[in-house]
Amino acid sequence: MTSMSPSARPLLNRRLAEFGTTIFAEMSALAVRTGAINLGQGFPDTDGPEEVREAAVRALRDGRGNQYPPGPGVPELRTAVAAHQLRRYGLSFDPDTEVLVTAGATEAIAAALLALLEPGDEVVALEPYYDSYAACIAMAGGTRVPVTLRPGAADGEPAFRLDLDELRDAVTDRTRLLLLNTPHNPTGTVLTRDELAAVAELAVERDLLVVTDEVYEHLVFGTAEHVPIATFPGMRERTVTIGSAGKTYAFTGWKVGWVTAAPALLTAVRSAKQYLTYVASGPFQYAVAEALALPDAYLTAYRQDMEAKRDLLAAGLAEAGFGVYRPAGTYFVTTDIRPLGESDGFAFCRSLPERAGVVAVPNAVFYDHREEGAPFVRFAFCKRVPVLEEAVGRLKSLAG
Ligand SMILES: *Cc1c(COP(=O)(O)O)cnc(C)c1O
Repeated sequence: MTSMSPSARPLLNRRLAEFGTTIFAEMSALAVRTGAINLGQGFPDTDGPEEVREAAVRALRDGRGNQYPPGPGVPELRTAVAAHQLRRYGLSFDPDTEVLVTAGATEAIAAALLALLEPGDEVVALEPYYDSYAACIAMAGGTRVPVTLRPGAADGEPAFRLDLDELRDAVTDRTRLLLLNTPHNPTGTVLTRDELAAVAELAVERDLLVVTDEVYEHLVFGTAEHVPIATFPGMRERTVTIGSAGKTYAFTGWKVGWVTAAPALLTAVRSAKQYLTYVASGPFQYAVAEALALPDAYLTAYRQDMEAKRDLLAAGLAEAGFGVYRPAGTYFVTTDIRPLGESDGFAFCRSLPERAGVVAVPNAVFYDHREEGAPFVRFAFCKRVPVLEEAVGRLKSLAG
């Protein structure tokens, strides 16, 4: 045969074959088709602070960032990120050599994994995991090794728990890095200081790198506390810390994220990042620099607002008959559908728009061990109070 159709072999390569379609596309389409309330995807339905929006408009009008900004990010933002890490956590980073601006946390994760992994390296990650982790590990040729977070008592805290012995057992001679996420999406678990100290000790003992996704650092509730793992002994030199303005300032469309890391690590991540987007979000970088300088009162009010929304949705879900794992952080609450007489989260989420006019996401999509996640379903509470109240009202029909 001389003419060979391009479809003669699968177009999507072997590394990505399992990542063909995302559940979010399917569920969001379902929401549109049925007019259901979309509590599937985690984006706020109101924008962040007006003065920050205005800062973006000003930057755009003044011609700041409309052309390629500097590769590592505009100096104003790198300085603001360094000041934030120092003020909040006592972590001192040089804005010129230890801070990198990225196209959201998503690019930071991709760049870190592409830069730091050799094919065959193992990555230990907490399961369930944010959906881009598995795909990025695959693109880097790495092998993911999940450590499953186990549900605690429903209606208790912590929602899901890390078994430190399982984590230790997951590390082998091929492990290159630990990929952490705290506060944790989708479970809402916030790793405690003691847990993080143990993880840090393990990383030092086994000489592992740590990539830590802390995009929900400011969304912790009640007595929970966010502690960056970079603050523990021996960790500053082996940790890549990732933050994002999307979740902290409720501008998820702006795609402004950042990395803080010691110079050698940061240089490695930058090497990969410059061939992904090179740069992004020029004018928004200036606006986020201003957002990071807002008084702490903004973050306090935002956190309190989100905590009240968590309480509203959690109470409504419990009343509707779900088992509710109270999240200590993030935008999400994970529920157990078994008290409703259900066991398959996929089937449940596919039928929920018709049954109750609400869209949620089956946690199983965030697991390699799908059966571990089968009975869990995630709802987002980063929505306006009337929207949450309407959703809760609709879900009551399930209690029957
Ligand atoms: C939303 C989210 C991201 C992506 O952040 P962007 O800044 O929008 O790219 C990364 N990690 C987790 C856990 C998230 O929930």
